[in-house]
Amino acid sequence: MRTMRSVIVIGGGISGLAAAWQLRGRADVTVLESSTRVGGKLRTGTIAGVTVDEGAESLMSLGPEAVELAAAVGLGDSLCAPAQAPTVIWTDGALRPLPPGHVRGVPTDPSALTGTGLLSLEGVARVAAEETLPATPLTEDCSVGAYLGTRIGQEAVAVHGVVGGTGRFPAAVADASGARILTGTTARSLQRVAGDRWRVRAMTGDGVLTMEADAVVLALPAFAAAELLRPHSPMAEAGLSSIPHASTAVITLAFSRARAHFLPTGNGFLVPPVDGHTLKAASFLSNKWSWLHDRAPETFVLRASIGRIGEDELLSRPDRHLVRSAVAELHRAVGPMGEPLASRVTRWDRGLPQYGVGHRERVARIREAADELPRLALCGAAYEGVGVGACVATGLAAGRQILSQP
Ligand SMILES: Cc1cc2nc3c(=O)[nH]c(=O)nc-3n(C[C@H](O)[C@H](O)[C@H](O)COP(=O)(O)OP(=O)(O)OC[C@H]3O[C@@H](n4cnc5c(N)ncnc54)[C@H](O)[C@@H]3O)c2cc1C
Repeated sequence: MRTMRSVIVIGGGISGLAAAWQLRGRADVTVLESSTRVGGKLRTGTIAGVTVDEGAESLMSLGPEAVELAAAVGLGDSLCAPAQAPTVIWTDGALRPLPPGHVRGVPTDPSALTGTGLLSLEGVARVAAEETLPATPLTEDCSVGAYLGTRIGQEAVAVHGVVGGTGRFPAAVADASGARILTGTTARSLQRVAGDRWRVRAMTGDGVLTMEADAVVLALPAFAAAELLRPHSPMAEAGLSSIPHASTAVITLAFSRARAHFLPTGNGFLVPPVDGHTLKAASFLSNKWSWLHDRAPETFVLRASIGRIGEDELLSRPDRHLVRSAVAELHRAVGPMGEPLASRVTRWDRGLPQYGVGHRERVARIREAADELPRLALCGAAYEGVGVGACVATGLAAGRQILSQP
């Protein structure tokens, strides 16, 4: 293993920053980030004087990487758990709590489903029969929905918040990494030079910036990584370009507790696509995160998400329409809260990669093709998981990959 002299990480979201952190002390790292700040989908903003997350509001993870990294960069004491509350679904005209005994919405206690309104009597009986069904081997990739059509799966997931917002996480990682961070710098092309070095051409506010390094990490959304890889690997480019993305918008609403007609309890609700609503989820931030309640006890903040794959028309509407639709549907779902004090719409264009059937194989092909390019590593939400934990894990792995290459 030789020490790399220089590494350029393209993309300053949490994946790229995790890669930079992994490389700290072993390489001279520069992170190129096109926007004016690091963090990507981890970002805080202010509404009615209250700091809230506008992108991810939690660190969802199957493994320990995100929590361990948060602790390593000094946020250990700021990690917090959401309030305990049942998961609630808005379906068939009512809010219906999922009964206790489920993991990520998958029931583990079939008897608890009786009388919830979520399933018919036949449906409850069908779920109860699951234990006695013969095993269904997972011989090939299939959608979760298809698999659950024949069985009930299980997956454990941990959810953490950060006091003050998960938007604090990337800045802390960036600081601890010691990397040079160039914001407002958009990588436009990647070239192989001088045998085994990489040259990156980037646009900045001041014009074109050209840099060279021993290695590069592409910590970008799939479509952006595809652009840079086009001249180097048609296979990787094709695979990355074929990953679909859903655009989404987060509508944050602040209510005055004194003036609201009514305020909901619980942590929020999910909306299945079958009911034809605009909302896909609502999160009652002031109930869910005690730090937020403590900081702004007179204000009630919630956020609603809209935008599933194929809903581009909905997202093309102006902000005030989205706010109006969200408020109207929230009133129908939980009750008439009255008018919000303030609203904020945050749009995430192509913000969520969609893991369709065959995603695992597609990613294996992309990684195989990219592995043929020396001293280049890929990380980000497009590969092994969209949650922050999975992104951190890919970033750390990309850093290790670069360090292990000759
Ligand atoms: C609305 C929303 C809510 C979410 N909620 C949660 C949640 O509660 N919990 C959870 O665990 N996960 C959540 N996620 C998912 C999670 O936030 C993301 O998957 C994760 O943050 C992605 O990190 P990343 O670094 O891979 O990508 P990004 O955050 O997209 O970072 C990529 C960076 O690359 C930059 N970039 C792009 N092109 C270039 C270029 N050419 N040159 C230089 N820089 C470039 C971008 O500006 C961006 O900063 C949510 C996602 C969204 C959109």
